[in-house]
Amino acid sequence: MSEPVVVVGAGPAGLMLASELAMREVPAVLVDVHPAQRAEAPAMAINAGTLEMLDQRGLAAGLREGTVTFPEVRFADLRLAFEKVQGPREPTHMVLQSRLEKVLIDRAVELGVDLRWATRLTGFEEAADGSGVTVTLASDAGEETLRCRYLVGCDGRDSVVREGAGIDYVGDDWVIVRGIVGDVAINREDVAREQYGLSYTENGDQFLGAPLSPDVMRVFSAEFSTEPPEFEDGPATLEQLGDAVERLTGKELKATEAHWLRHYSIVTRNAEQYRKGRVFLAGDAAHVHYPYNGQGIGTAIGDAVNLGWKIAAEVHGWAPEGLLDSYHDERHLAGRLACMNIQAQLALLYPRPLARYMREMMAEFLKFDEVNVFLAELVTNLGPAVPIAYDGVPKSNEEDRLLGRRLPQVRIKTAAGDMGVAETLQSGRGVLLDLSGDASAQEESGWADRVEVVRAQPVPELPRTLLLRPDGCVAWHDGDGWGQDELRIALRAWFGAPTA
Ligand SMILES: Cc1cc2nc3c(=O)[nH]c(=O)nc-3n(C[C@H](O)[C@H](O)[C@H](O)COP(=O)(O)OP(=O)(O)OC[C@H]3O[C@@H](n4cnc5c(N)ncnc54)[C@H](O)[C@@H]3O)c2cc1C
Repeated sequence: MSEPVVVVGAGPAGLMLASELAMREVPAVLVDVHPAQRAEAPAMAINAGTLEMLDQRGLAAGLREGTVTFPEVRFADLRLAFEKVQGPREPTHMVLQSRLEKVLIDRAVELGVDLRWATRLTGFEEAADGSGVTVTLASDAGEETLRCRYLVGCDGRDSVVREGAGIDYVGDDWVIVRGIVGDVAINREDVAREQYGLSYTENGDQFLGAPLSPDVMRVFSAEFSTEPPEFEDGPATLEQLGDAVERLTGKELKATEAHWLRHYSIVTRNAEQYRKGRVFLAGDAAHVHYPYNGQGIGTAIGDAVNLGWKIAAEVHGWAPEGLLDSYHDERHLAGRLACMNIQAQLALLYPRPLARYMREMMAEFLKFDEVNVFLAELVTNLGPAVPIAYDGVPKSNEEDRLLGRRLPQVRIKTAAGDMGVAETLQSGRGVLLDLSGDASAQEESGWADRVEVVRAQPVPELPRTLLLRPDGCVAWHDGDGWGQDELRIALRAWFGAPTA
């Protein structure tokens, strides 16, 4: 076996990334300290952008079954006109993180990822000549060293990889969110009305109670403070939850038992570098913030689909110059904007009496469609757009609604049947989507091993031909004056030189 890529952390980022590598025949070793899939994963909201990225690999269909959707997309507590985003786009779905992780684990195993539970990364060293990284892994069987091509830290907020690489995790603590998350047993008729759904206190603090089944409720309390949290992150008791719920809803919580409960605290941080030599960071290891609007998992999955094909291109020897570095450029921007929008959302909520004027001002701004669309795309991981610009080509995506973005969920008719555009990407290659309806249209055969041509009938919502990167990002289209010359420039920029 050629040297693998070692991915540390089997959360959403690591699981998705390991599969993105394995589907492209890059051997991936995925390690996690947990003895098996964890039951205590906190997230429950999966937004439009995440669903689209999962659809690109055929992973979302099962997750939608039996779930409820959130009726609104909000910026802090202000409703955004999500319907103004170029559609069709989906609402945020209530999907437990544990359910998503199960789907991702099954996929990773099916693709042959070497998934090692109960294994901790304890250290690593990059070779002086930059040719690889040697990692040290500890498990019940003892300590072993393993040499790999690349090391990717998907090991969460307290990332050992980030620390070992000496990468700063920058941000500020003007507000710390702390609370309790978990699942409790209930009798439905005993739960107060105020304890269902999301509620806010005068101070902006929040409580969410979401029934998972007739007798289990997911609870989530969030209290804002400028002081460090009173408790360490870790197990919480039913009594502590009861106190928090009473503070936040004014009513006693009549839960009969705790299935699991944890204290958590959240600050805002973005790593200064997402790449250092052969070491990369993804997911919470790269950026962490209050998980508004499902942006925690959205940014984690976004990192994984952005990085996977680029590492594979490098391993298979066709990566154009700078492709791997574009991971930092594109995803650091996404991480920065996630941290920024979430800090701004918190500032609109806390401290609530002072934030009132900003909220009123913001409500006025939201009467402008462009503001709505920008924010709605950003907070649902439909944005930010990847900055696409080619040397010597006069146009960038600052003026274009398609370039640098994933396509809306338009359905198309191909010879293989009806499908959503996201499904055209399931092979993991780039796609030249030919919607001209002309079966004899010219192909760029020099990239046939890296870019698949998918022909479908024309649709009014989209230009005649589009080039999609393997992560779904539109890299070129002919809708606005670009032709074959610019297509070849785009193909070279993302897929390297053509074969002879
Ligand atoms: C209370 C709360 C509610 C949230 N709700 C939502 C929500 O509704 N929607 C949403 O999108 N996001 C939500 N989030 C955020 C979301 O859970 C995270 O953004 C997401 O889990 C990040 O995924 P990740 O893969 O980057 O890291 P993690 O999920 O943190 O996974 C990291 C993994 O690395 C492993 N690990 C760490 N160190 C090592 C080591 N040295 N060796 C081996 N393994 C290691 C850990 O065991 C862990 O499994 C919430 C977060 C909290 C705290």
